[in-house]
Amino acid sequence: MSKPERVMVEQHACPTRNDPPDAPQGVLSRIWRNLLTSGGRTSERSPDYLRITLLNLIQSAAIFVWGTFLILNLVTMKEGTFGRLAIDMAGLAVAVGVIVALRRGVSVTMASRITHLCLFVFLLGLAIVGANNPLTMTLPLIYPALAFLLLDDIRRGLAGTLLMTAALNIALSSGFGPGLRDSAMLLDGALTFTMAMCFQAAVMALYVHHRKQAMTRLREVSDQLSELASHDPLTGLYNRRTFVDVLDRELSRHDRDHRQLAFLLFDIDRFKAFNDHYGHPQGDELLKRLASVVGRVFSRGEDIVFRLGGEEFGVVFHTETREQAAAMADQLLAAVEAMGEPAPVGPRATVSVSAGLYLVGHGRGITPNHVYRQADEALYRAKSSGRARWLYAND
Ligand code: GH3
Ligand code: MG
Ligand code: MG
Repeated sequence: MSKPERVMVEQHACPTRNDPPDAPQGVLSRIWRNLLTSGGRTSERSPDYLRITLLNLIQSAAIFVWGTFLILNLVTMKEGTFGRLAIDMAGLAVAVGVIVALRRGVSVTMASRITHLCLFVFLLGLAIVGANNPLTMTLPLIYPALAFLLLDDIRRGLAGTLLMTAALNIALSSGFGPGLRDSAMLLDGALTFTMAMCFQAAVMALYVHHRKQAMTRLREVSDQLSELASHDPLTGLYNRRTFVDVLDRELSRHDRDHRQLAFLLFDIDRFKAFNDHYGHPQGDELLKRLASVVGRVFSRGEDIVFRLGGEEFGVVFHTETREQAAAMADQLLAAVEAMGEPAPVGPRATVSVSAGLYLVGHGRGITPNHVYRQADEALYRAKSSGRARWLYAND
């Protein structure tokens, strides 16, 4: 009958450029925010916010580092610096590339993997090339936290940490690192690296695990809220609020679709009398049975059924021809009659519905409100001309 995912996905879309701006900000803080959010691609409420801000921070730091190396190498310009210049420029190009690509909507996972690979190679390379400086040798200790956050995956974070730890230990035992050539100090160094990396990895694994659990719970709650906000609790059909969103979306697609977009609005005849005679709970049961009958008549993937209020329902559907739309309206009225619900008053033995059918013409400027009003006017005519029938709104 209807497709909850489609509507829910749209209501769940992450906040984007359209988010209302926060408090007024200075130029610097606006530039800073712009960088951290990749030009408004994400906001604090989005699950990717952390990774996007981190990527921008790391790559900004990379621009600073590679830029400084480049200037220093250009100034000194010793023999054999061409190779270094090439590395500096490549590092700079990757950093700028990632920042720009993120703003243009590249996948966060792809940007994270590239950044992680560069970080891994850079930190390990620095530890080996600058091994005679004990402080440079300790720089790779920042790796596990960044790897876990960038990759957002416990197994990959662990694998990276183990690889980095192993590589550093191999470097140490191969003679890199100042004053570590006696075996006791070498053992101390290796143990310090290994402990620091593994402890940090354990803390990060816990953090990533809890963050994932919290995100899953948040998504569940948000799905439940969205379900509540978009559906009628009695019949499970979409509600009036969703009707406007769906019709808006269908109208905007309509000009690119060769098919006819149709809206059928219908209302139970003399439902008040049914309630008065059988009681309100029985009236509710009838509404539920009717909802499932409508769902069986309009059962194609794209048919969307709504309870628009009280005993008023609507269906948005597509047809190839006007005759097909008319046949669907006939089928609905016949199916309601076939339910055989006894009518307490009126000329008919069973409960019936009256309906208005509006076929949406092509052209801009048609609003959900217009579509509803047209069908409602036809429904009103159907009621006043005797009920248990449907009429075109277009005639
Ligand atoms: P008409 O043929 O002109 O449509 O007559 P009607 O009696 O169906 O229309 P009217 O607008 O006079 O009454 C609508 C009734 O629908 C009144 C209200 O009690 C009933 N109704 C609205 N919502 C619900 C509901 O959720 N459950 C039940 N059981 N009744 C409802
Ligand atoms: Mg009614
Ligand atoms: Mg009504």
